[in-house]
Amino acid sequence: MKNVEHIGIAVKDLSKGNALYSQLLGVEPYKLEEVASENVLTSFFRIGSTKIELLEATTEESAIAKFIAKRGEGIHHIAFEVEDIESEMERLRNEGFRLLNTAPKKGADNKLVCFVHPKDANGVLVELCQSIHQ
Ligand code: ZN
Repeated sequence: MKNVEHIGIAVKDLSKGNALYSQLLGVEPYKLEEVASENVLTSFFRIGSTKIELLEATTEESAIAKFIAKRGEGIHHIAFEVEDIESEMERLRNEGFRLLNTAPKKGADNKLVCFVHPKDANGVLVELCQSIHQ
């Protein structure tokens, strides 16, 4: 794995979250994107060599809605950049980690993503992400 690509933060209200994080970080989000397959609205802030992703649920079935109902707003996941997501998934499977998806899926911000079960990572939801070159 390479650098921390971004940190995902679950928020109840994305426009309020955007206003707050713009003040906190001193930059505006560079992107707003809906990921319909995940039932989330996202925004991204570039901060140094990494990013902050805010996530708001668009439906009750969204993992973000469930997370907030259970634990409240806060850090939802840490995403690590990988060169080759398929081989990283294979490596982790061989190490005994449970992955939440069997094949990489299309995430926000032009990424292929896969999640590692938080129970296998001390309660932290870990995202692997590989940039899709266009
Ligand atoms: Zn993410």
